[in-house]
Amino acid sequence: MWSLATTPHVVSAAGDVGAARIGLFGGTFDPVHFGHLRPAVELREAYDLNTLYLLPNHRPVHRGPARANTAHRIAMLELSIDRAKSVSIDTREALRDKPSYTYDTLSEIRREQPHATLVFFMGMDAFAKYDTWHEWEAILGMANLVVVKRPQALHSTFSAKLLARQQERLGTTIRNGESGVIEECDVTQLSISATDIRERIAKRRTVRFLLPDAVSEYIVSNGLYQSNHD
Ligand code: ATP
Repeated sequence: MWSLATTPHVVSAAGDVGAARIGLFGGTFDPVHFGHLRPAVELREAYDLNTLYLLPNHRPVHRGPARANTAHRIAMLELSIDRAKSVSIDTREALRDKPSYTYDTLSEIRREQPHATLVFFMGMDAFAKYDTWHEWEAILGMANLVVVKRPQALHSTFSAKLLARQQERLGTTIRNGESGVIEECDVTQLSISATDIRERIAKRRTVRFLLPDAVSEYIVSNGLYQSNHD
């Protein structure tokens, strides 16, 4: 499938060759919905990224297993992204048959793209538990983090302190070639979650306008999420 190694270097308006700015938005996408997609396009613009990759995991480390299998979750992501390819999919975690550690993924991307500026996006609910992530400090040595505001999500004591510490040390501007900056970003607030979508489907309620029509048609034709249990 697709590989980051093919991401080109970029020539700026001034004509100088700069390293690529690559965004990664990890998640289970079980299923993908507009609460992922709208922030993704806004973040790509806000951070002037060459590409923002949605990064589906295979076996999430911080939660129970996904309800839909990996192939279904990738198929739904493929149906959801626009033709202009402003957002793409990186399947490396999904296709790796072991728990998905962001540290391993970013190490691999760093090796492929030594000069790229990497920006890893996560919702505030995910960042609140960032201290439970494998090698979380080492991740900051490879990438910048952007915490995406999400309705009802709040900082934990740990995440508020880490944000303040990094901002004191490194500021809030993600500069090319650097890593370790953590900043928060406001996006259009959409109170949509995959859990709520799965529950509505199990109760035979409509999910229209919560996710792309093509994804909801795929869910129906493949009989996904029809009950609250597997
Ligand atoms: P679930 O309800 O199954 O936990 P989810 O809707 O939270 O799923 P995930 O795939 O777990 O979706 O989320 C992937 C990433 O997207 C996470 O960092 C999460 O915080 C973020 N995210 C999910 N929904 C939203 C939303 N509505 N607004 C902002 N960020 C979101």
